[in-house]
Amino acid sequence: MSLRVYNTLSGKKEDFEPLEPGKVKMYVCGVTVYDYCHIGHARANIVFDVIFRYLQYIGFVTTYVRNYTDVDDKIIKRANERGITSQELSEEFIRAFDEDMEALGLVKPTHEPRATAYIDEIIDISLKLIDKGLAYEAGGDVYYRVDGFPDYLKLSKRNKDEMLAGTRIAPGELKRNPMDFALWKSAKPGEPSWESPWGPGRPGWHIECSAMSSSLLGDSFDIHGGGRDLIFPHHENEIAQSEGASGKPFVKYWIHNGFVNVNQEKMSKSLGNFFTIRDILKVYDAEAVRFFILIAHYRSPSTFPTTISKMHAPA
Ligand SMILES: [Zn+2]
Repeated sequence: MSLRVYNTLSGKKEDFEPLEPGKVKMYVCGVTVYDYCHIGHARANIVFDVIFRYLQYIGFVTTYVRNYTDVDDKIIKRANERGITSQELSEEFIRAFDEDMEALGLVKPTHEPRATAYIDEIIDISLKLIDKGLAYEAGGDVYYRVDGFPDYLKLSKRNKDEMLAGTRIAPGELKRNPMDFALWKSAKPGEPSWESPWGPGRPGWHIECSAMSSSLLGDSFDIHGGGRDLIFPHHENEIAQSEGASGKPFVKYWIHNGFVNVNQEKMSKSLGNFFTIRDILKVYDAEAVRFFILIAHYRSPSTFPTTISKMHAPA
């Protein structure tokens, strides 16, 4: 039986042939644990739950890794507002996420790593990139040198010159090129930090997924998934880091799911138009929520019914 899959990297449907016959290795970017998850988050998890189950159903021995981002600006800010540590806050919302996924009836991935458990691996990759001339240290920060990686933007197919025209170096950043991105950020007061060859600091966001995927799946693996909002910069930067460090192709098939829209806008925390999974499950059965998510093709937008939005609009 032949399986076809749309690959964001080629922009085409391709025959699915895993790197190792009979086995599939899949990594999906997980949530940043600073608040309750909404239906938009549920969609990515439901979509990749179905892909995971289906791959196993047709006979592939499948390893599924979904991470928790447990160090991040939003986590630090929220924890400081509440007067607790970032770790306490992230533990609270990892538990909440677990409860939500179980309530939705999703199976657990094979591995659910936390970014902060991979600091040594993050430092290793950063050192390798500096060694290869693909990264540089500046004032305790480490930045990826985008100009050193000719394949940069091969996933998002953006134009480097056009992008440069719209990018500025923010005050306090010591980048050489506005498109360079942080692998490591030097410690600031009130932030969690770890020891590193560049002094105390914490990882940038993108490097954690390169570290966790190579540790658990190897330098090259079959499927990398996530919401389409992650294509740029997150997944583009993962490719630059992983392929830059290993010199091998990172991922064979990139799969991205569409958004959940409310009144033609993406459901998101920042727009305030979201419904948490736990609030929706008070009113609707988990099977109905999964069915609603899965009736839309996974790459198309899924429209949250306005009747429901009105009935259950947050006061
Ligand atoms: Zn990621």
